[in-house]
Amino acid sequence: WHEKLLGGFRRTSDRLIGNLAGLGGARLEYETLDDIEEALIASDLGPETAGHIRSRLAEGTFERDMEDLGIRLVVAEEVEKALAKVARPLEIDAFPRPQVILVIGVNGSGKTTTIAKLAHLFMEQDYGVMLAAGDTFRAAAIGQLATWAERVGVPIVTGPEGGDAAGVVWDAVKQATATGIDVLIVDTAGRLQNKRELMDELAKIRRVLGRLNPEAPHDVVLVLDATTGQNALSQIEVFGEVAGVTGLVMTKLDGTARGGVLVAAAERFGLPIHAIGVGEGMTDLRPFDANEVSRIIA
Ligand code: GDP
Repeated sequence: WHEKLLGGFRRTSDRLIGNLAGLGGARLEYETLDDIEEALIASDLGPETAGHIRSRLAEGTFERDMEDLGIRLVVAEEVEKALAKVARPLEIDAFPRPQVILVIGVNGSGKTTTIAKLAHLFMEQDYGVMLAAGDTFRAAAIGQLATWAERVGVPIVTGPEGGDAAGVVWDAVKQATATGIDVLIVDTAGRLQNKRELMDELAKIRRVLGRLNPEAPHDVVLVLDATTGQNALSQIEVFGEVAGVTGLVMTKLDGTARGGVLVAAAERFGLPIHAIGVGEGMTDLRPFDANEVSRIIA
């Protein structure tokens, strides 16, 4: 897994190291500190973390020699500090069962794949998992999720295309409860272009869930595509308003140099980051670990 993770963050790390290259060595003067701060922001790390790193360099080493490697060590430490506050794997601890996880995100973000990966992860931990095809708007979404369910080996509850998503969720909770399922993962529509409708639909799903179990949904996980860089931040904002996000999964880190956005998201929103996606297969989801990731990024 280390290799896989390393591969997943290689481009992000190369870009950061490239942006910082050559800034060390000479005496760290104010101008150099400005350049370093700029390089960190250009690497998607976010202004707050960039500011912390700048202050630390200014305190400890100002007008002393500091090689590139020394700078990178400080960067890694500050990145870890920022990420450690939000690194929190999804725990299955709801009683009564099932724990209901709503998965939200724009179409194309990797939502369906992430649901399959989460299902696989929980299966491996010996939990009983069920999926609910709550994105009834797109026929392809229902079919794609059903294919994944079969591949992962978990039951799925579906409804007709264009049908009532809340109805599918109702059926799914009933079945999950009757069959002793531990985790119910619910797919939802990703139509952010029609915010009002999406908001109404999610509100209805919540009402239905609440009638069956006042604690549900236990988690509202927003799936974000890391390749969109800073755009991911505005999605957190909008989905926060529309759906009340409780945690994040960042996908496609393997295909981008913009993984630094994890740090920017951590500092700006403080929402738990549960896991990261580094590939298209069902085993390509990694519970988020701040130490592991910061050592790779920086
Ligand atoms: P949805 O529309 O949000 O449900 O997105 P999908 O789950 O269908 O994913 C969209 C595309 O992104 C598919 O081709 C997936 O294989 C791909 N994808 C999803 N997650 C990852 C990831 O972590 N890494 C890579 N490289 N591709 C991913």
